Amino acid sequence: MGLLLDGKKIANEIQSEVAQRVGELINNNKRVPHLAIILIGEDGASHSYVNGKMKACKAVGFEYTLLQFATTITEKKLFKHIEQLNQDDDIDGFIVQLPLPKHISVEHIIPLIDSKKDVDGFTNHNFGSIVSDQPLLLPATPFGVMELLKRYQVTTKGKHCVIVGASRIVGAPMSLMMVEQAQATVTICHKFTQDLAKHTRNADILIVAVGKPGLITADMVKSGVVIIDVGTTRIPDATKKSGFRLSGDVDFEKVAPLSSFITPVPGGVGPLTIASLLLNTLKAYERHHD
Ligand code: NAP
Repeated sequence: MGLLLDGKKIANEIQSEVAQRVGELINNNKRVPHLAIILIGEDGASHSYVNGKMKACKAVGFEYTLLQFATTITEKKLFKHIEQLNQDDDIDGFIVQLPLPKHISVEHIIPLIDSKKDVDGFTNHNFGSIVSDQPLLLPATPFGVMELLKRYQVTTKGKHCVIVGASRIVGAPMSLMMVEQAQATVTICHKFTQDLAKHTRNADILIVAVGKPGLITADMVKSGVVIIDVGTTRIPDATKKSGFRLSGDVDFEKVAPLSSFITPVPGGVGPLTIASLLLNTLKAYERHHD
């Protein structure tokens, strides 16, 4: 069984570092960083992620504001709220929790966010900065994965990293970070990739971000592989108080014995996405004050 990459533990470490910085600001009579969150509709998973984000803000001493809207909000109204947040000098960073209702296009919304306040790291400006020598606000989930690999001192230089999933939010920025920051050799797979197993079997580091439980089975990995499972799918489960359990994309029980390091789901990448949001908000605050 590989060593468990404990995302909760690393996220707690990052939270303590951020809380310490906030303590210094308070001691110097400075205002603290302020994050705003736009939440639309009643999606249970989104509410639970937003609660986690607000809890983390509270724990580190950030100010936070929740702007909650009904699913029926129009794009035009949402544009106005985003513009207000862009202009509000008291707000250092904000996020629009995804997914959005069908009538609101994420392609219309993201470009409206001022890149200096884009603490999810979704705008073109921040995405593009991955390949510059001055990275700005990095996409939160891949940023969290990089912190996890760094803090567990997983060797990445020259290793073959295979990424399954090529979304704009996770897989695509992850691939650039693994090249630019981790100096790995990268293969990126998506839903049109032929013979996925042929690629995954070559991975020294396998990062999976698809949203299909059980996609990666034991016969698809080589011995000693490092597994980062970003997938998070709610599976109905009557034995749980919540009525569901979370599942990653990797068949954990069968794959873990073959791995050298592996993330659990839950408790792996999820807490680090929130920790990255805190780091990005602090960075946005510091740039705002420079
Ligand atoms: P997404 O936008 O739906 O992207 C999924 C990606 O997987 C796409 O690139 C898609 O290919 C690819 N794909 C679909 N079926 C595939 C297959 N059979 N083989 C290989 N690739 C396939 O999802 P996302 O936003 O990236 O999220 C992915 C997963 O990560 C979800 O479970 C999500 O809940 C989770 N997630 C977790 C966190 C966290 O903090 N833990 C954060 C973000 C996301 P195409 O590009 O060709 O469509």
